[in-house]
Amino acid sequence: MISLWTRRKAARRWEARPDAIRRRFDAAEAVPISNADELAAMAPGFRRSLSAQFGVEALAGRLNPVQLQDDSVAIFALAEHVAGDQADELARRIAISGYTPARPARYVLAAPLLLAIARQQITAGSLSGAADAPWEQARTALAHAFQDLIEWGVRHGASDIHLNLRLQEAESEVKYTICGRYLAPERFRRMPTSTLLDMLSVAWMDIRGGNGAVFDPHTEQQGSMARRVDGREVMLRWASLAAEAGPSVCLRLLQRDAAARLPDLEQLGYLPDQIQLIDRVMLSEGGAVVFAGTVGSGKSTSLASLIARLPGHRKVVTMEDPVEYEIPGAIQNSLARSLDADAHDSYAAKLRALKRSAMSDVLLGEVRDRETGRAFMDLAGAGVNVYTTVHAPSAALIPQRLASDFIGVSRDFLATPGMLKLLVFQALLPALCRHCAWPVQRLLETGGEHLDGRRLSGRQWAEWLEGVQALYSGDISNLRIRNPQGCGTCRQPSLPELNGYAGRSVAAEILEPGLGGQPSRSAMDCAMLKAFRGDIDPRDIEVRFHAFETQRLKTSGGGAGLAPAPRLWAVT
Ligand SMILES: [Zn+2]
Repeated sequence: MISLWTRRKAARRWEARPDAIRRRFDAAEAVPISNADELAAMAPGFRRSLSAQFGVEALAGRLNPVQLQDDSVAIFALAEHVAGDQADELARRIAISGYTPARPARYVLAAPLLLAIARQQITAGSLSGAADAPWEQARTALAHAFQDLIEWGVRHGASDIHLNLRLQEAESEVKYTICGRYLAPERFRRMPTSTLLDMLSVAWMDIRGGNGAVFDPHTEQQGSMARRVDGREVMLRWASLAAEAGPSVCLRLLQRDAAARLPDLEQLGYLPDQIQLIDRVMLSEGGAVVFAGTVGSGKSTSLASLIARLPGHRKVVTMEDPVEYEIPGAIQNSLARSLDADAHDSYAAKLRALKRSAMSDVLLGEVRDRETGRAFMDLAGAGVNVYTTVHAPSAALIPQRLASDFIGVSRDFLATPGMLKLLVFQALLPALCRHCAWPVQRLLETGGEHLDGRRLSGRQWAEWLEGVQALYSGDISNLRIRNPQGCGTCRQPSLPELNGYAGRSVAAEILEPGLGGQPSRSAMDCAMLKAFRGDIDPRDIEVRFHAFETQRLKTSGGGAGLAPAPRLWAVT
């Protein structure tokens, strides 16, 4: 036991040392240990991890104080962390704690080895005994657990997996985005935080094009990796956020060999008159087609389907981040657009090569900053057909977004006739299961909940329906609502939140700037058209766009109780 007195004396001794002794550690002096055999052979030998004693468990996968067989204390670290402020601070704390610093003082360990020590899967006993590389087993177990998370997501049609770690709490959550809903399946609801942290450290080792050699809970990281699930290749795009409570890692699932299943525009939910309009505009060469929508609204899928409709005599090149769908006949390029200088250089180089490749059509991925904005102007200005996506809340606001300070496309450029050929805004709404959806009248008979959990009486729902009828001329008796019990076709025992739904459907608005003005039908109107066919629950439309009451106020010029709202369109 080390007394407080000894510790104080040691602290004074440390503080009194001349700077020459407290110089920065040179990483070249660290001793490398790359496998369990080398660890077992080190002298003096490894005894135990002191990460708990020094209160640095959260760092232990990168930087770990360890006691050796002669009682001295060394630092085991990853190569990137063996020198630097954190390691120096740890060395200082070892010195003032009264422990004897080991000589040599610091060792560089392979990541899985350090992780296994931090998790106490390697102990002095396991090193001397005949145990069969337990750290290797631990690494395999963590890789399996990660694969399990991915497989569950792929099999349930998830678009994203979210690992939200709370470093101060024993348990953390794993959520999935499925059909646009952010869901916590029972199976992954309470996961040990330390396991998730270790799992992410192991998984990060397979990342390509990532920033950082190791997973770092305290910085934003991005990269991608490939996995196989049920014989299909799945691409994971990793983006982490260093949030207040701990890292929040979002893994976007992209199924790369989706060529056979790239849905056409009709399957996505585009209406026949919309597809006709798109085909008419796409026939002419030159100009830009821009898709807008929120994150996860399926813009890239729609754009891929649209490009797949181009005739074979057009040379199509894509620049994507990364390639999501195989587009027949197109020359596709994946570009990781991380934030480092190399990525900017490779983007510029790719763009130069692209311009010399005599293509007629370019899929540019997302226009989101000045660099991509310049590329957009460069290509569209050269008479190439450009297809791109942008974040904007409606088709009419796409030019404003492109001209914003973030992107910087000039207004004169956008106003040039023919430059903006087609502007599309799309939203994705849950589609009702055709087999079990209830008629809307059920709400009048029994009352029921709105999607925010508010319970309305039958009379209140009757008033709500009158409001719908005042806005839309469709037959409200055709409206249908979700059956929360679901049926044999749609029921998912592990995801009861999705019972009664069957996939998702696009509601789009299309603007042809050459014809000026506004789209003939807003995305919300398009969704209502589908509701009157019994395909979408009207309550989902209120959640996705705005309340019908808001729509009434908008169309009546903001004043309540004025002239009756105009019928927006007739449903035949
Ligand atoms: Zn059903």
